[in-house]
Amino acid sequence: MTKAEFLNLKSVRPAPDDLPRSLRNFIDYRKSGLSLNHIVGCPLDCGYCVRHLFENFSMKRPHLIVDDEIAVQELIGHWAFRAHTTPIQIFNRATDPFLPGVKTHLFKTLEALDRRGLSNPVLVITRWRIDRSDVERLEALKNLQLTILVTWSGIHDERVEPVPSAIAAGSLEVLAKSASRVKKILYWRPIISGLNDTIDHFASARRLSELADATVFTGLFYRKEIQAYFREAGVPDLYTDLARRKILPRDTESRILAHFEGRPIFRKTSCGVAFAHGTPDFNGHFGISEICSICPEGQREICSKHHHKPDTEAVRSLARSVSLADLNGIEISDRRIVV
Ligand code: SF4
Repeated sequence: MTKAEFLNLKSVRPAPDDLPRSLRNFIDYRKSGLSLNHIVGCPLDCGYCVRHLFENFSMKRPHLIVDDEIAVQELIGHWAFRAHTTPIQIFNRATDPFLPGVKTHLFKTLEALDRRGLSNPVLVITRWRIDRSDVERLEALKNLQLTILVTWSGIHDERVEPVPSAIAAGSLEVLAKSASRVKKILYWRPIISGLNDTIDHFASARRLSELADATVFTGLFYRKEIQAYFREAGVPDLYTDLARRKILPRDTESRILAHFEGRPIFRKTSCGVAFAHGTPDFNGHFGISEICSICPEGQREICSKHHHKPDTEAVRSLARSVSLADLNGIEISDRRIVV
């Protein structure tokens, strides 16, 4: 099958029996909430895709692990799920939610959650095409607090990113014209020093930011599997060192911030989402000066009003629910809780 044929597939296949366990487990407990990934496989070929880490990058066709209704049942039955509270991400690990065959499942999953009256924050990340009819369907949701994050990088090197950035720009335009209840974020990533951090990239990003409720920027997740893929594709090493977290050189960040003077721009995804909806950051970053220093004053006030230090017993009770009850030495500071 050609790439164009993969991109136009209107349906997904059942997942093969030999799908690795790490992917078959389609609910992921993450720092930022629960991630639901009952479809695996993607033809977009972004060189820095995390699927390199799951040995799944070669699966170009999207595959369905379980039916949407079962996926939703399992999600809301998950030990960590709290109605109206737990942030949810859908199809953010192993496919793009707006591919033609995948988006039907995205809509059905969202509608199944919404029908239950749940108002949890839901994050949907895409770099693919969003049509007006897609937005109409999303706008019809009544309860979920939905945010669409449109990934845009401005990278032209097809070995790094074969998907033209113009597609994401077009999706943001559609959202800007037709979304109101649904919030939209310019998800500017990955920013790679020496590749897409020129003044022209900054100017394009700033223009696009006018179409979004907020902008979030991040660097490159540069792990050995991703480095190996790029080496094989003939791309010179993007950084000399590998890192567990995303890389964004300090100097690049300073130049970005100078260019975005006066625009709402955030270092953390949840902060951009919070600002877009006028709610406090659900990930509790408030008070960490190296994160909050760039946040608009009104948003800092919202977070500040909702920020409180939990008492030890409340934390102990949560720790107990994840089998950490026997640990002594719970440490609660203004910045974090350590168990
Ligand atoms: S105040 Fe801090 S925690 Fe709250 S949204 Fe802004 S950057 Fe995030």
